[in-house]
Amino acid sequence: MEKLSIELSNGAIGFSLPKLDVPEFEIEKKIPSHLLRKSPLNLPQISENETFRHFLRLSQLNYNIDKGIYPLGSCTMKYNPKINEELARNSKFINIHPHTLDEFSQGCLAIIYELCELLKEISGMDDVSLQPSAGAQGELAGVLIISKYHKSKGEKREIILVPDSAHGTNPATATLAGLNTIEIKTIETNGVLRAKLIKNEIEKYGEKIAGLMITNPNTLGIFEEEILEISELLHKIDAQVYMDGANMNALVGNVKPGNFGVDVMHFNLHKTFSTPHGGGGPGSGAVAVKNHLKKFLPNPRIRKVNNKYQLVYEDEEFSIGRLHSFYGNFGMFIRALSYIRMLSSEGLKYVSYLSTLNANYLRKRLEEIGYKISFNMPTMHEFVLTLKEIKDKYNVKALDVAKKLLDYGFHPPTIYFPLIVEEAFMIEPTESESKISLDSYIEAYEKILNEIKQNPELLLNAPINTPVSRLDEVKAAKELKVKWQDIN
Ligand SMILES: *Cc1c(COP(=O)(O)O)cnc(C)c1O
Repeated sequence: MEKLSIELSNGAIGFSLPKLDVPEFEIEKKIPSHLLRKSPLNLPQISENETFRHFLRLSQLNYNIDKGIYPLGSCTMKYNPKINEELARNSKFINIHPHTLDEFSQGCLAIIYELCELLKEISGMDDVSLQPSAGAQGELAGVLIISKYHKSKGEKREIILVPDSAHGTNPATATLAGLNTIEIKTIETNGVLRAKLIKNEIEKYGEKIAGLMITNPNTLGIFEEEILEISELLHKIDAQVYMDGANMNALVGNVKPGNFGVDVMHFNLHKTFSTPHGGGGPGSGAVAVKNHLKKFLPNPRIRKVNNKYQLVYEDEEFSIGRLHSFYGNFGMFIRALSYIRMLSSEGLKYVSYLSTLNANYLRKRLEEIGYKISFNMPTMHEFVLTLKEIKDKYNVKALDVAKKLLDYGFHPPTIYFPLIVEEAFMIEPTESESKISLDSYIEAYEKILNEIKQNPELLLNAPINTPVSRLDEVKAAKELKVKWQDIN
């Protein structure tokens, strides 16, 4: 185990400062003595190279996308091209003051404008705002837009339909936006949202329905093939279709949500468009709308007038308002634009093709080995296994298998999500993985299945080869110890 920096402290000095060239601040004279600390701060004292080595060692204990496959379903942990980082770190971007006038920041505004244009093209939507700083905030923007749309017509609609395969943020968003979620069960329809299910809800609630929140492909990786019929049914009562487009990997370059009835959607630049994520941000949950919802978008908006880029406030009585200070998470826009421009439309098409191919190769090989798919339907860029049989037969849970994968040096997939699958294993390899990488991942699954059959108890102790062994995850979450305390 790596020691804490305070434990490594040995009295060395890890900094060198130039000689003071201003009058010394006379602490004793300027600050009342009762406010001055009586004992030293007890900060770690380590030499510069030992400090560096300490942090480098810590960084190497961490698993990351540059180390190996990171197939977290629903998270689209694809490779983050290093050219993106180089561009985002360009001093011409990072040194610009947020209050710089539009006329002196045309380059930055051009990036925002161009990225919006490309997202419009990719999604088939009519306007985009880059303000939301996460997928969940993009959802909130979208649902607030739907609410405001109905209110602007003098209607009070409070019901939002959400299938049970939805990402957990969907019902949470709806609640935060003041709507009531009606969950639609899809277990009996093989994980697919069928038009007849929507018909039932329309018969029940009619024009109380504000809209539908749908993820497509859904969180089982299944393409919602009745989406067109579903949106037509909803549009008949002027209910709006919201698409959670956090993971566009199976669609980019091939299918446009704007063509299958979506009125408003969000993207996660930090998934589909390769900007880094994990650890809570920064992200970017761009929100896109069709023409009839344009006036409800957040303000300010990017516009190009007489060949000049401007941030303008429009439709102030309709706009849902501001969601972020200044531009939004601007570094993410540079990275996403770089990614899209490097790939071009042909490249993006290839992303959706390859991410679907990789996921289906992995799925078929794992099924051959003996793992079970949750719903036997065609899947796109991700799929969900159920380890229920393994649990029933060998008393080995999805969590145990996930922990065992760590012992083989791999990152486990998303587990216990979506909630409609028992002992769920949700796998999304993304397009960045080679066949060699997928094969070695499959090999680990094969070894683990053999171990389960031979000696299931061994899995209950996994992981044993990692810096820390099995954690008490409830305790770790409920009793956070994030600060060092001298216990002596
Ligand atoms: C990741 C994800 C979200 C939430 O995105 P955040 O940036 O984490 O807020 C929403 N919906 C789906 C389907 C997702 O995969």
